[in-house]
Amino acid sequence: MTCFTENNADLLIAYFEHTLPADERAAVEAHAAKCADCGGLLAAHALMSEAPAPVVSTDFDARLYARIREDQAKPWYVGMWHFSHWKFAIPVAAVAAMLAVGVFLSQPQPAIDTQTKAESIDVQQLEQALDDLELLTPLAEASNI
Ligand SMILES: [Zn+2]
Repeated sequence: MTCFTENNADLLIAYFEHTLPADERAAVEAHAAKCADCGGLLAAHALMSEAPAPVVSTDFDARLYARIREDQAKPWYVGMWHFSHWKFAIPVAAVAAMLAVGVFLSQPQPAIDTQTKAESIDVQQLEQALDDLELLTPLAEASNI
């Protein structure tokens, strides 16, 4: 017999529904006794079958339908603030922000010739310093007299 885990779900479902003939049922149990995976499946199903079903209150249906009517009567925008609607927006916003940063950083930066700019400033400063010196020189000579 092939394993239940290898495309044999129909056989497993028939076993659980007790619709298998006795010989096939015995073959399934014989395989499950040798196979750890299938034996685990049968044991788990047996545990779930023995578990007691929870007691449902008598007015469960009435309360459920009342709540559904309440939710349907609410305006459409009330549900927009629920976190489940925004939990997908947060990763999308993060990815968009990363893309924006990536696009910004991949833009070619204008080449700044800092040496030329520094030289032009130095020339201007030198001219200004010479002009100041020319202005101050007559004053200095006059003050010595
Ligand atoms: Zn198996």
